[in-house]
Amino acid sequence: MPSEMEKRLLDRGVSINDVAEIVYSLQVPYNADLTMMECTDSVRTVLAKREVQYVLFTGIALDELAERGELPQPLQAIMEADESLYGVDETLALGITNVYGMIGLTSFGYLDKVKPGIIRKLNEKGKHIHVFLDDLVAGLAAAASARIAHQDPKANRYIEANFDTP
Ligand code: MG
Repeated sequence: MPSEMEKRLLDRGVSINDVAEIVYSLQVPYNADLTMMECTDSVRTVLAKREVQYVLFTGIALDELAERGELPQPLQAIMEADESLYGVDETLALGITNVYGMIGLTSFGYLDKVKPGIIRKLNEKGKHIHVFLDDLVAGLAAAASARIAHQDPKANRYIEANFDTP
C-alpha cells in the first residue's frame, strides 16, 4: 500500500523506484551486495519522517501554486523562469538531506550537478513546474543513500577496536 506521501509524489510524476534507482547508483560503488529492495526501503524510511514530509508538502505546494499562476509577484515570475539564482529550492531540500548528516550533503551537491534519471526529467521544461521537486528528489535520494552508508557495519570497526564494548 503506497503511503499518502508516495501518492503525492506519484501525482507529481515521481515513483519510489525512480528515487531508489538514484540511491542505488550512489551506493553500489561502496557496497557490491546492495539490492534495489534495500534502496526502496531506505527511501520509504526517509519518507516516513515527519520533518521530511513537511519539506515535501511545502515544496510541492509552491510548485502547484506556480503552475496555477497563483503566487504573488515576483515569486510567480521567478518560478515560471526557474531562475537559477533563486536557490530557495536547494535550501529547502537540504532540510531533507540534513536528517542523515554531512555525507548526504556531498551527494546532494553531486546530484544537483549531474541530474541523473528522474531529476533530469523533472528539470526539463514542460507543462508542469518542478522548481522545488527536482531538488526535493535529489535531497530525498541523498538522504536515503546516506542512511544506507551509515548502516555499514564496517563503520563500527574503529570504535570496537579502541573501546571495550559493554
Ligand atoms: Mg530546482
